[in-house]
Amino acid sequence: MFVLRMLSYLWALPTTMLGLVFVPLAMLTRGGVRVVSGVVEVYGGWVEIFLRRCTLLPNGASAMTLGHVVLGRDEMQLDLTRAHERVHVRQVERWGPLFIPAYLTASLVLWMRGKRAYADNPFELEAFRCS
Ligand SMILES: [Zn+2]
Repeated sequence: MFVLRMLSYLWALPTTMLGLVFVPLAMLTRGGVRVVSGVVEVYGGWVEIFLRRCTLLPNGASAMTLGHVVLGRDEMQLDLTRAHERVHVRQVERWGPLFIPAYLTASLVLWMRGKRAYADNPFELEAFRCS
């Protein structure tokens, strides 16, 4: 079991590395970092601005999962979105480095078909169904 757990972290590592880029950004801009159940949660400071302004969602995102790193606007948003974001963590553990390309491809195909790139994305549907 321990070996499988370590392999899931290794498989998700390329995506996790993207998330870890936000740790110093948060720390240098009055944000924070904590670890909850094996997941690094990064919040506040520049992370809050990134989530508010740099996503494709009209009002920004409350949180975002990048491997075993979850970005949140603040600690409360991390608490409120934890169940949903943990589904995305499990998805990254299954898809590994293919998660981001698969997620973005699904969104693009949906958008090209006139559907909602976020709300109809199967990764989001699973996360909303399970949280
Ligand atoms: Zn989601």
